[in-house]
Amino acid sequence: MAHSLSNGISTESLDDEGEEFRFSSELSLESVRAAQHQFCRDRDWRQYHPPRNVLLAMVGEVGELAELFQWRSEVSRGLPEFSASDKTRVGEELSDVLIYLIDLAEQCHVDLPSAVLDKMAKNAAKYPAERVRGRSDKYSDYPEYRPQEGQQKKEAGEEGERERGGGGGGGEAAVVSRVGREREEGDGSE
Ligand SMILES: [Mg+2]
Repeated sequence: MAHSLSNGISTESLDDEGEEFRFSSELSLESVRAAQHQFCRDRDWRQYHPPRNVLLAMVGEVGELAELFQWRSEVSRGLPEFSASDKTRVGEELSDVLIYLIDLAEQCHVDLPSAVLDKMAKNAAKYPAERVRGRSDKYSDYPEYRPQEGQQKKEAGEEGERERGGGGGGGEAAVVSRVGREREEGDGSE
């Protein structure tokens, strides 16, 4: 049975092989945030949790998760190649990452549930299923991708004027290169 979020995004859990997997409970991000907040408060650890520290702690936990996958050949969905204890550890490290991620969102005053829904909607608009199905290219690699075309033409013209006026060389090739780079960088999101 397919589920959908309030923005209409499907949360269907069947993967390509028709194997079903879903979580056992509906844990809210707010309940995790509140519990972690209380955990730190009870230990007077809030003083150690400014955004930068929490970010670095989260990256450290990502490293601990990666360590469990390190030096193995590719593993299958469901991790049948892992021992029971290693799979338990995967769950623990995933949890550490999530807890710090939610803590970080709190420290940054980012309403994570709203941000996630907004970002998923943006991703869906950036990668329309009918256009990208079966393709793994970045959106900026599609020939039909034309972000803010008018703005880019304007900037290219201004840059071209500067290049010609300054006699610095590069000319049109430099302008094209710069515009191409900006298209690559896009809005900074992946
Ligand atoms: Mg850990």
